[in-house]
Amino acid sequence: MLTCPMCKKSVQPLDRQCPTCKTDLSLLVDYVGHLQNGLEQAEALSTEARYFIDCIDRQETPFNDGASGLRVVKLLEAAERSLRERGRAISV
Ligand SMILES: [Zn+2]
Repeated sequence: MLTCPMCKKSVQPLDRQCPTCKTDLSLLVDYVGHLQNGLEQAEALSTEARYFIDCIDRQETPFNDGASGLRVVKLLEAAERSLRERGRAISV
């Protein structure tokens, strides 16, 4: 729930206009959306960092180690090359 900055009434999160005072809330709604996206990304990074630290504590190799990253890069490069060559199958 958001609060209209002009009349202080509650508005629905996706309302782009305050139903009470008719203030345009587009910028506020967009700003809140960007904040939520940023928080979700921060949470994902936090989870990844916790996993990495746990791997160090347990002296285990993370499933997403350097070799895994290299495989992903090779797949992405093959996909990009395939797109450039009109969908030709690329061996990886
Ligand atoms: Zn209002």
